[in-house]
Amino acid sequence: MTQSTQKVNLLGMGMASMERFFMEELGEKRFRATQVLKWIHQRGVDNFDDMTDVSVALREKLKTCAEIVAPEVTFKKYSKDGTRKWVMKMPGGSAVETVFIPEDDRGTLCVSSQIGCALDCSFCSTGKQGFNRDLSAAEIIGQLWVAARSWDEPGKKRERHVTNVVMMGMGEPLLNYDNVVEAMNLMMEDNAYGLSKRRVTVSTSGVVPRIYDLAEVTDVSMALSLHAPNDALRNELVPINKRYGIDETLAAVNAYFARLPDKRVVTIEYTLMNQINDKEEHAHELAQVLKSTPCKINLIPFNPFPNSGYERPSNNRIHRFKDILQQAGYNVTIRKTRGDDIDAACGQLVGQVVDKTRRSVKFIEAVELGHTAATVANRRSDRSS
Ligand code: SAH
Ligand code: SF4
Repeated sequence: MTQSTQKVNLLGMGMASMERFFMEELGEKRFRATQVLKWIHQRGVDNFDDMTDVSVALREKLKTCAEIVAPEVTFKKYSKDGTRKWVMKMPGGSAVETVFIPEDDRGTLCVSSQIGCALDCSFCSTGKQGFNRDLSAAEIIGQLWVAARSWDEPGKKRERHVTNVVMMGMGEPLLNYDNVVEAMNLMMEDNAYGLSKRRVTVSTSGVVPRIYDLAEVTDVSMALSLHAPNDALRNELVPINKRYGIDETLAAVNAYFARLPDKRVVTIEYTLMNQINDKEEHAHELAQVLKSTPCKINLIPFNPFPNSGYERPSNNRIHRFKDILQQAGYNVTIRKTRGDDIDAACGQLVGQVVDKTRRSVKFIEAVELGHTAATVANRRSDRSS
């Protein structure tokens, strides 16, 4: 569907914006906003005519000034282990990826916030692409809208598959602050997706002023991409560290969590790169640096991409690193790779973005040319073999 310029896209409107729109722009009652919000997000409807409890007159009025436009899915693939991946083309032609990863007791959707990223972390292929543009709130929530809808069956009540959202796809969420906040509010809104604040996680490389701002407006969970135990090394891997060093960043994160009434802790993300930040001394240093930060640590084995210049450490090295942190009393997990048969892994999908986006462009062309997904997938495995 192509988006027209004059009409307002209701997809990205949170409850407050929707109420303002209905009451101030349309002169309608407040409850109309709730009705329409539910149709869009709880029933996956993008057509006003399907909103059967909305009067015909209002539906006609809505058609003249509003629309519901979701990102265009150009490629999707559902893995045998339940993992699902979508490539969504955004206006302007660039594509982002969204991945769903099921686990025993939850289903996590990994959502992108920007096309590309300006922060240029040395091991991240999104960063290597440079920054293209921010996604709108509609394009961010649209990824969840598409995912939630993908299990729907006509006539059946929707089941909840996505229980968690992590803002760990492409982009730095806190550099697209307003749109990310609006979209996260919709994720947690009872009349939309109703996810608990504990199950919506913003991941940041440490945009310190925005962490303080965020504390004023929301209480979503937070992950900090640390990746190094000292400023010298972090300056090289995560360049924003030159602006906001580790101490300053951890202070912001601690302040964010200290005001929450529940006992949530920050997730420290640490991508392990062979011989770079995965030595025993780094693990000991990390244990020291984090001693005043209530946290859990998530180790992410580096996900290689062409010409990255980094390697994934051996399993022995990864486990040694984990053991040292565990012995120091930390709760440590190693991120599993899932959806291997569709090449998807949350937080690591960005590790292959340059490569995958290039291939995705080919997928998009192939899909547009009318090839089936299976043909495209075969071609893709031909290319990667
Ligand atoms: N910009 C945000 C969120 C997106 S990146 C951030 O940096 O936190 C999501 C996670 O994937 C981050 O922890 C990031 O450091 C990590 N990551 C990026 N490239 C990776 C790679 N090649 N291998 C493993 N993890 C990677
Ligand atoms: Fe941007 Fe995150 Fe990649 Fe760094 S790791 S370049 S902040 S997306």
